[in-house]
Amino acid sequence: MPSFATAVLLLALLLALAFTLRRLWSHRHALRQLHQAIEQKQPLLREALPATLDVTWDALCDSANGLIEETVRLRQQQTGQLAQLEATLGSLREAVLIVDASNTILLANHALQAIFPRATNILNQRLERVLQSVDFLNYVEAVRRNEAEPQHAIEFADGAQSISVEVTGTGIPPLNGQRGPWALFVLHDITRQKKLESVRKDFVANVSHELRTPLSVIKGYVETLVDGHREMPVEDRERFLRTAQRHTDRLNSLLDDLLTLSRLESVNPGLRREAVDLPALLGTIGDDYRGRRAAAAHQLHFSAEPALGHLLLDPLKLTQVFENLLDNALKYTPPGSHVDVTAKLLDREVLVCVRDNGPGIPAADLPHLFERFYRVDKGRSRESGGTGLGLSIVKHIVQLHGGRVWVESELGRGTAFFFSLPARLTEG
Ligand code: ADP
Repeated sequence: MPSFATAVLLLALLLALAFTLRRLWSHRHALRQLHQAIEQKQPLLREALPATLDVTWDALCDSANGLIEETVRLRQQQTGQLAQLEATLGSLREAVLIVDASNTILLANHALQAIFPRATNILNQRLERVLQSVDFLNYVEAVRRNEAEPQHAIEFADGAQSISVEVTGTGIPPLNGQRGPWALFVLHDITRQKKLESVRKDFVANVSHELRTPLSVIKGYVETLVDGHREMPVEDRERFLRTAQRHTDRLNSLLDDLLTLSRLESVNPGLRREAVDLPALLGTIGDDYRGRRAAAAHQLHFSAEPALGHLLLDPLKLTQVFENLLDNALKYTPPGSHVDVTAKLLDREVLVCVRDNGPGIPAADLPHLFERFYRVDKGRSRESGGTGLGLSIVKHIVQLHGGRVWVESELGRGTAFFFSLPARLTEG
């Protein structure tokens, strides 16, 4: 039989164990509450903790709550600053991008979306996932190291196309004690300028080439004449002079066409609209062509719906459109071919068509036909005095009138040039 003392000892031990277990449980519970409060950034309520905890827990609770409140305040401040920054930058026409130290996008304004329309919902995404350019990533790093040049032209891949952008970058000290420097970039879309620049370069190269050919022919013949005109047979002299004259004419038409194009492309292209009776204008052009030697071997036919009446047009410029299309139809089709000019009203447009039944144009050439200096058969064009600018002029004049121009052609069957004009009919 255990003695009374042993029983008391046993009871005391059991009580001590129960007390310790209870304390352990309340500490565990309190720790769990603390962890949850920190995770959710919510202050820890003392009442939510077991009453058995001693006063050190009150101090711990106060410190934790202080830290949580400070974190929440800093976060709100940072969000507020970013929102303020976003509102300010949002109205800028320049595209602005801010990335943090790990290249996560913190801010991107509307103008950036305009440059990169495919890059949607880019906030909080990694830069390298959104904008594809190794060159740009290297530039970002250089900006962080403070080693970047102030402005840098960068090509971004955008599907099959590329976007040229001029970027200026600067490192910004981290806000609210963030780790690592952020970087701010101002981007300026220069894709259009680059394209224009290359078009201009091509144009200058083409013009020089076009001018050089007749000039060197003229120079060669004139030099031969200067040196040997005395002993040269008269027929040769005449032949040389005629060749020089032909090439001078070519130079002339080239310069005329270049001047016409440059006027049409200028700010003030000199469009003089007046009420023009389109069927009557076509009648006059028809009479004019039927009297031309170049059209003698062709079958020309003109028809215009009388209902077309008067349209607001520049009669001289529109006549040039018809002349360029008719001259081509005569130049590039064999004698005996048919050339039909029709004009009819279609919905709110006047549809004009110049159709021939000549050799046609290969499908691969059709998309380029209205480009300056584009010719399907260079030799044929030059031989017939072509400049390669006729269809470009046609396109510009039609577009200035608010219309569209296009071509349909089938090899062996013929070609049809169409253009539309807004049917802004006037009285009378
Ligand atoms: P060009 O001065 O060479 O005639 P254009 O711009 O008027 O220049 O025409 C461009 C090219 O389109 C021509 O060189 C010719 O190859 C082709 N072309 C134009 N009209 C016709 C047509 N009716 N039939 C066949 N080819 C044509």
